Amino acid sequence: MSDVLTPAQRRLNMQRIRSKGMKPEMRVRRLLHGLGYRYRLHVKTLPGKPDLVFPSRRKIVFVHGCFWHQHEGCKDSHIPLSRCDYWEPKLSRNAARDAEHTIALRELGYQVLAVWECQTRDVTALRAQLEDFLGPPSRKT
Ligand SMILES: [Zn+2]
Repeated sequence: MSDVLTPAQRRLNMQRIRSKGMKPEMRVRRLLHGLGYRYRLHVKTLPGKPDLVFPSRRKIVFVHGCFWHQHEGCKDSHIPLSRCDYWEPKLSRNAARDAEHTIALRELGYQVLAVWECQTRDVTALRAQLEDFLGPPSRKT
């Protein structure tokens, strides 16, 4: 048996990697839904197209990948030295945009919470953080 991948297998691998990247947001959504929270997703009319919007609470939750959004002080935000010139400007633009969106949303009267990818691994802590921010669940959105 050779361990060289066919193009089809390679594609499948890439899909797996990409869907793995989706996981943190799905984890947050599933947890909140299970707790009885209702929310709207990726609201295009709001700055930054927030991941989860709780309109009647005037609250917003972003789920940020530690690398893409440069989680400060987090080991997962580490930029590979070899490609630093490429990534650094790109990623600092992302982080600057995040900050602008948060300010704009606050001006609209929203409270904003950023949940980092690395914080979604511990479900108990994640749940406490979300409940603390959102208040008790209800059937309202
Ligand atoms: Zn992190």
